Amino acid sequence: MARDRRREDGAGPSHTEYEVGSRVSCKATFDNTYHAADVIERKTDPKSSKLRYYVHYLEFDKRLDEWVGQERVASIAKVASADALHRVASGGGSGELADQKMTRRLKRQYTEILHVPAALEELPPIDQHLEKEHQEKTKVKNIQGVELGRHEMDTWYYSPYPEPYASCHKLFLCEYTLKYFRKKKTLLRHLAKCTLRHPAGDEIYRSPPPPANDPTVVGGAVTNPPISMFEVDGKKSKVYCQNLCLLSKLFLDHKTLYYDVDPFLFYVLCEKDAQGYHIVGYFSKEKNSAEGNNLACILTLPPYQRKGYGRFLIAFSYELSKKEGRVGSPERPLSDLGAVSYRSYWTREILDVLREHKASLSIKDISDKTAIRTDDVVKTLESLSLIKYWKGDHIISVTQKIVEEHLKTIATQKNIEIDLNRLHWAPYRQEPPKK
Ligand SMILES: [Zn+2]
Repeated sequence: MARDRRREDGAGPSHTEYEVGSRVSCKATFDNTYHAADVIERKTDPKSSKLRYYVHYLEFDKRLDEWVGQERVASIAKVASADALHRVASGGGSGELADQKMTRRLKRQYTEILHVPAALEELPPIDQHLEKEHQEKTKVKNIQGVELGRHEMDTWYYSPYPEPYASCHKLFLCEYTLKYFRKKKTLLRHLAKCTLRHPAGDEIYRSPPPPANDPTVVGGAVTNPPISMFEVDGKKSKVYCQNLCLLSKLFLDHKTLYYDVDPFLFYVLCEKDAQGYHIVGYFSKEKNSAEGNNLACILTLPPYQRKGYGRFLIAFSYELSKKEGRVGSPERPLSDLGAVSYRSYWTREILDVLREHKASLSIKDISDKTAIRTDDVVKTLESLSLIKYWKGDHIISVTQKIVEEHLKTIATQKNIEIDLNRLHWAPYRQEPPKK
């Protein structure tokens, strides 16, 4: 402990300065443990005239990048040897254990968040240039927090709100129009006039009423609050959709769509109460996807994560594909976190179909029943070791017992059912060009 305390306040005259780009060891605020980190930016605190560093931890997601005081930053070599000594002294690898716990916690946080970045080399040169500029500009998080309805959230990433909003420490948002304000006072003035109590679009889904008074329900089953889905057309409700993109960028590392929302539809999920419809998350979808993608970008806002909403959004995107009579797949490449969420959804869906149809099914049968594209079906079955490649063909190799065993291991995942009788939706039709 003495070692740590000395570092905390021992940043006197002997403190080493680190340049931008240096690799250091930094005591992170999320676990008070030293991790290897890169210095992204630095500045001098005008009050204390001490240095502050903006660091990225090598083994962690960019969302944990942060400003830290100079007392938390040390040279890599020094800390490594001190930690080794400490571990010998305390008789174990408690540091490693803490790391493992941390990683598990982060993984849990990640499972419901995903985004779909475009690869730099796939962009036309002008966009490549903009993209590089974007990467330069977005390396330091600008807005630290937002207030949205009854929630206050810490943000994770840079978002290109226009000035002067971009330089605000905190923004105040109308939860219905997603208009943003620098001061709470101004938001309250807006709310006094704002009559909207739901997203600017059509309600296409409403969850069934809770079975609370149903005498057949024993022991008062825990039900989710009533939810609704709204379909918002990027062309008809441009400002709302742009505001939604700006908000979601605060929680997505890489997302290039902010202002050109016309070619997209946005599916906004809300919890409903007496006050109105409170935004939970959304996914976007191209109106006419040349690649047959049924989802472009997806987000569950932090206060609503770990409740099964991410899974609900993915499931919803596939239900829309079924109504269109086609298979779909999320835009590629998937982030690693996106891959985790989708793998989990695909696994459950495919195992359910295999259980239901005891007769042997082909890859195509499974794809037809689930609207999951065949290559995604194959990949999922491969990950479960339920497929063989024989004489140029994929053969599903499975027994009911194996299906049941797999299903048992994923039974604990939260699952909000979609009641298809309550989905009122028709596929998007291109308006005929005006003469
Ligand atoms: Zn408003």
